[in-house]
Parts: sequence; structure tokens; C-alpha cells
Amino acid sequence: AFITFEGGEGAGKSTQLRAVAPRLEALGYEVVATREPGGSPGAEALRELLLFGKHDLSARAEIMTHFAARCDHVDQVIRPAMEAGKIVLCDRFFDSTMAYQGYGRGEGDPALIAMIRSLRDLVGLTPDLTVLFEVGLETGHRRITARAAAIAGQGAPLDRYESADRAFHARLAAGFRQIADEEPQRFVRVSSESEDVPAITDKVVGLLKTF
Ligand code: C5P
Repeated sequence: AFITFEGGEGAGKSTQLRAVAPRLEALGYEVVATREPGGSPGAEALRELLLFGKHDLSARAEIMTHFAARCDHVDQVIRPAMEAGKIVLCDRFFDSTMAYQGYGRGEGDPALIAMIRSLRDLVGLTPDLTVLFEVGLETGHRRITARAAAIAGQGAPLDRYESADRAFHARLAAGFRQIADEEPQRFVRVSSESEDVPAITDKVVGLLKTF
């Protein structure tokens, strides 16, 4: 099975993925936990370019680079793992491209949305289930600001898109809601407003067990 975790920054999806993977393993499943952009050596190189490269790519080139990375990740990691009978848990997938590049930075430009839809069809792999982690704008903003301060404190660079721009995060959240509404059978929405991380993990494990 192929299961993706989606959400904006500060929604806690990466934390949940790290917590859920060992719980599924304890139930006897073989789990591959991976992430995007990246997840295979070539795609990780493209991640560096996308997040820390010194040139800004045009909107279209950025979208295509995300999909180039994704194809490598699917071909070299995700499909082989699925064929070996494993559960693949992926932190972000093509819904993030629709939300970030389509609705967030693209501000819903119909030409960009259409391009992302076409590329999505060409990938030829759709998640069996997508868990969308949702957090209110104020909570999200508080977590993003805290994380940015922690990253700066370690002397590490912020990636080019790490931003506390509220309008951007509002577009992102609305974009994710729209994407989930278009495919209600694929999505489950989980609130990560609570600071009780283990309770959210229990909820997600429960959802995955019944899936
Ligand atoms: O998953 P995480 O929140 O760590 O994402 C890493 C970075 O990649 C974030 O800054 C996010 O804004 C960016 N990103 C992006 N476009 C995507 C996926 C992630 O700009 N399609």
C-alpha cells in the first residue's frame, strides 16, 4: 500500500510519520518511510537544488523539477517497495505540489493548476490513502516561528520557502482543503491542533489499521 501524509508547515506530519512507522512495524508490517521532495539519491540532489539552489526557477520549471524528482523516487524507491509487499509511508507527494506550487506560490493560476494535473496523471501512481494534517492558522504560525528560531539558533540555513507569511499559509491551507474535497474517498483529515502528539499518533494508527 502507498500512504501519504500531507499538510502545511507546523502541522506535525513528519513527527507523526516517524511515530507511526514503528507502530505499524510492531503490528508485523514491513514499512518504508520516505519523503519528498527527495527520497532517492537523485531526487535528494534535486531537493537541494529546489530548496537551497542559488537561482530561483520559474514557476513552471519549479513544478517540472518537483515532478522529475518524484518520478525518480517512484521508479527507484516507491514502486519496488510496493512490489515487495511493503507499506510505503511518504511525507508529502503530488498533493504538496498542487498546494504549494499551484495554490500557494501559484496563487491558483489556472495554467499552473492544469500543468500540475497533467503531470500528476503522467506519474501513474496515486496514493491509496492520504492523511491530511490540519492545524489552525494561528497554531501553525506559532509552530513555524518557533521552528525557524530553532533552525537559526543551530546556525543552519532556512530553505528558500521557509516563511511565516500568513497569506501564503492561508492559501496553502485552503488549497489542501480543496484538493481533499475533490477526492473524498482518498483523503482522511486529521486535526493536529492538539499538542498531545501521542494521541494524534493513536488516531492515525487506528485509521490505518481499519483501512
Ligand atoms: O515537509 P517539509 O515541511 O519539511 O518541507 C520542506 C520544504 O519544502 C518546506 O519549506 C516546503 O515549503 C517546501 N516544499 C515546497 N514545495 C513542495 C513541497 C515542499 O516548496 N511541493
